[in-house]
Amino acid sequence: MTDNIKHLIDRLEQSQTLSREELTLLLECRDQQSADYLFERARSVRHRVYGREVFTRGLIEFTNYCKNDCYYCGIRKSNAAAERYRLSKEQILDCCRVGYGLGFRTFVLQGGEDGYFNDDRLTGIISSIKAGYPDCAVTLSLGERNRASYQALFDAGADRYLLRHETANDNHYARLHPEAMSLAHRKQCLFQLKEIGYQVGCGMMVGSPGQTTDCLVDDLLFLKELNPHMVGIGPFIPHHDTPFADEPAGTLELTLFLLGVIRLLLPNVLLPATTALGTIHPLGREKGIEAGGNVVMPNLSPVDVRNKYLLYDNKICTGDEAAECRSCLQRRMEGIGYQLTASRGDYRATVTN
Ligand code: SAH
Repeated sequence: MTDNIKHLIDRLEQSQTLSREELTLLLECRDQQSADYLFERARSVRHRVYGREVFTRGLIEFTNYCKNDCYYCGIRKSNAAAERYRLSKEQILDCCRVGYGLGFRTFVLQGGEDGYFNDDRLTGIISSIKAGYPDCAVTLSLGERNRASYQALFDAGADRYLLRHETANDNHYARLHPEAMSLAHRKQCLFQLKEIGYQVGCGMMVGSPGQTTDCLVDDLLFLKELNPHMVGIGPFIPHHDTPFADEPAGTLELTLFLLGVIRLLLPNVLLPATTALGTIHPLGREKGIEAGGNVVMPNLSPVDVRNKYLLYDNKICTGDEAAECRSCLQRRMEGIGYQLTASRGDYRATVTN
């Protein structure tokens, strides 16, 4: 590690703004030693804000119907091999009941962009969850909708919204998505969600086809601009029935480095060690926490639909019961000196000590 790189990491930790050139240098000149230093600083910031707690979110993958055709995604509409399913309201509430008993206090409803779930159906589901579990947070991850719809879902009780921007570079966005989709609209959605009052999460895939250092620097600058409450990043992993079937996956090493950088860039951010990270390396989630992450999102979906919500190949935990997923993660986190908590795990705006 050169003094120059150490100096950049120190400046990031002191909340100084790095220029495009400096961020480029940091990403391009990284080595194992600089990564170790970065992770040590990221952990120290994370411990100051969130201690050694790891927040959990119970992920309910409630539909794999999707009207979009994102080139990377296994549930894209053109994938005729995907076996489609939708959970009923009762099935979703059942997941919440099981999850509540296991200690989850945040439920994440994630799905493809499925027109069946209009505002009426969704507000009914959200208000039932909030009525049954008033001490729980509801996070939505349903893609792009109009402002009135986001407002209606918020009014029904939704607390948070995850909408990864996927890449903050226009050309790269066009490489990953059909023409009907645009980065400008994605960003507009994110700003609207924030205005409405959601805790908002964006994020990108690491190592998606065509991604350059420049794209990643655009991502980091966009994160600083949006200043989200959550950032979800994970490696791109190919799915065999998509146009990107033969593309290489993103690496553990670069994903971890970016997690560390994001912890310093946005000290208070909620930062998950994702399932995709756990998929490319058996200790991926542990390493993600040790790089500055503070959230894990075990799966609460019914076991009989798990193997149908396949965004990418070899996804882990598709055969496990919710209870197994939670206790497995608890063991894993305890193994590295962290503790799963049963709280809502809200964003902390200020450092607590
Ligand atoms: N329809 C929702 C949820 C999308 S799935 C939405 O648009 O927000 C959640 C995330 O999975 C996506 O945002 C994307 O970043 C990630 N994902 C999709 N395909 C992937 C792949 N092949 N490898 C890694 N991550 C992928």
